[in-house]
Order: sequence, then C-alpha cells, then structure tokens
Amino acid sequence: MSHKLLIATHNQGKVREYRALLADLPLEITYLDAEGVAFEAEETGQTFAANAIMKARAYASHTGLLTWADDSGLEVDALGGAPGVLSARYGAPVAGSDEERYWLLLDRLAGVFDPGQRSARFRCVVAIAWPDGRLLTAEGACEGRIALVPAGQQGFGYDPVFLVAEEGYRQTMAELPPARKNQISHRGQAAAAAKVALAQAL
Ligand code: IMP
Repeated sequence: MSHKLLIATHNQGKVREYRALLADLPLEITYLDAEGVAFEAEETGQTFAANAIMKARAYASHTGLLTWADDSGLEVDALGGAPGVLSARYGAPVAGSDEERYWLLLDRLAGVFDPGQRSARFRCVVAIAWPDGRLLTAEGACEGRIALVPAGQQGFGYDPVFLVAEEGYRQTMAELPPARKNQISHRGQAAAAAKVALAQAL
C-alpha cells in the first residue's frame, strides 16, 4: 500500500531535494501548499530536536498524514552555541537577510583570530510523525570553522562563512557544488538516516 508523506515545509527547494531522496520508497510525496494547509506549527523549542518533533506532530495531527519535518541551524562554540535554534532569526529585526546575518556573526567573532577558536557546526534533526502518535527522529552534523571573510555563491544562509572540516577548511560550504554539499551536509546525513528508519517502519 502506498502512503502519503507530507513534507512540512513551504520551501520548494527542500521539497525537491526530499522528493529525489525518497523516490525509491513506496510513498506519495506531498507538501503543505499542495495540501492547502494554512496552519503554522509553533517552533518555540530550545533544541533542533524539540522543534522538529513539535512541527512533525502538529502537522500530522492537523492533517491526518504521515509527516516529515526538519529543523536546522548553526552552532558557534565561541558564542556558546549561538545562533543555534535562532539561526533563521539571528539579529532580527535589524538583520533581515542571510547576508546581514552572516556579517553580524563575523562581527561578533571580530576579536577571535585563532582558527581553533572559531569552531562551529551545522546541525539538522529530521522528525517523522504518524497521526497515531508514533515518532522517529534522526540527526546529522557537519563540522567546520567560521571564516574571516565570506566566499562562494552556492547554497544559502551561513554557507559563505562556513569553512568545511571535511574539505580541510580550504573551502566554504558556498564554494562546494550542490551535490557535494548534499553528500556531507547535516541535512543530507539526517535525511539519509531518517530514510533508512522510515523504510523499516513502513
Ligand atoms: P531551517 O531549519 O530551514 O528553518 O533553517 C534554519 C536556519 O539555519 C536557516 O535559515 C539558515 O540560517 C541556517 N541553516 C540551516 N541549514 C543551513 C545550511 O545548509 N547552510 C547555511 N545555513 C543553514
């Protein structure tokens, strides 16, 4: 039997990526706008896991559909883990764009010159909720350092200021081809693990 899987996002880029990733599972992929869901789930948790679970559960019970939600962000050690769950809203309302947010981050790290002190990681948690209350989660992390200046045009968010450990800190996430980013990124890893667990649970 084919289940419908609701991807709980308004971001078409994410829908496209998850659709490709999940293509070989017996699932009919749908998303909030396609289902006419106007309801907005809360994201008031203190952790990525809490927010992903909150979203997955809220949309699963609102729609009656098996629901996939994620939450992600950047943790900078020298800033005590900030911006963390506030990554998308860092510096709001003054900082309103991705570029303003990463410049704010560079500014807050202005006195920190030792590369070892600029350590950071992207984290992502995927939560999958069934309308009957069953839940599974998976997480991924991608280690790196905050660059001194931005570089690269690919990706989004903090990618231009994130030097990737797996690339020897020589390239920012925004300098990597999208396929390479998907291979090593926090979201790629969380999604791959969630897919394995989901396939077993279907
Ligand atoms: P969300 O989980 O899609 O809401 O993302 C939260 C925020 O974290 C984004 O708005 C970005 O600021 C940041 N973020 C999450 N994933 C990435 C990434 O892959 N690259 C750069 N920034 C990211």
